[in-house]
Amino acid sequence: MRSRPFGPGGAPVSVIGQGTWHIDHGDRQQAVAALRRGIDLGLTHIDTAEMYGDAELVIAEAIVGRRDDVFLVSKVLPSNASRRGTVTACERSLKRLRTDRLDCYLLHWRGSYPLSETVAAFEHLVAEGKIRSWGVSNFDDDDLDETLAIAGEGKIACNQVLYHLNERAIEHAVIPWCKQHAVAVVAYSPFGSGDFPQANGKGGQALHRIAQAHGASPRQVALAFLTRDPQLFAIPKASNPAHAAENAGAGDLVLSPDQLAALDEVFPLGTRPRGLPML
Ligand code: NAP
Repeated sequence: MRSRPFGPGGAPVSVIGQGTWHIDHGDRQQAVAALRRGIDLGLTHIDTAEMYGDAELVIAEAIVGRRDDVFLVSKVLPSNASRRGTVTACERSLKRLRTDRLDCYLLHWRGSYPLSETVAAFEHLVAEGKIRSWGVSNFDDDDLDETLAIAGEGKIACNQVLYHLNERAIEHAVIPWCKQHAVAVVAYSPFGSGDFPQANGKGGQALHRIAQAHGASPRQVALAFLTRDPQLFAIPKASNPAHAAENAGAGDLVLSPDQLAALDEVFPLGTRPRGLPML
């Protein structure tokens, strides 16, 4: 499994991780087994949020005895992201996750509380040792400019954003911004949140051809494409252990320039939309 620094001066983190939205909806024991299988195979970046129902409880079970093996990320809801509310929300997440610290804590999306309040709370949590770093989610380049003006260089660890083969809007301004400031870009819904390209379509066929050349699967090729640049990470969600294992197989897959160009052609970037797409 490839790993790379997570944000400015950050520790190395697995390029492919594990999302957990809706992981609490099906068979709990299978979900725990999937997370554990993923961790065993190097998917150690685990993403959750206070918004994800009981997902934090499922993770708590999966990481018993192996907290130090994982890079644990949770998120505060914008409606809780005041100076005080952020601290309280973090403490609630720590309790549900049965841990004493998060490796990174994110603002889930921008809400009505001033960013300066959320950033002040994040810095307080860092000073208290309750979080190791902090970042944002669903931020466009102008939101990142504002955050940088408040926090200063070197503080924003990551921006977690929607990114899959049929939704490449972040390539216009978000990825370049993050590259310039060494901020990690975490691709969420890397399989289109259940809408992966059909095998019989043009895109599906290209994925299949490239997959065959590597003895890999189309989903592994998609993950390799989404993590092709040095600041990119992806967090597919899998509640099935076989899916987690397949996703881990993308951890060492590197596509050639020709293969990247072939995917670029069948999944075109498109023009920059007015707002940043999000789920
Ligand atoms: P996703 O990862 O794009 O897709 C998940 C779906 O793909 C599930 O149905 C899963 O099935 C299936 N799957 C996973 N691996 C597979 C494999 N190898 N073969 C076949 N099917 C496979 O969707 P997502 O959950 O929307 O996004 C991933 C994570 O990003 C979330 O869980 C969450 O942590 C994060 N996220 C963040 C935001 C944000 O606003 N910051 C928004 C959305 C998502 P099974 O579950 O049955 O294995």
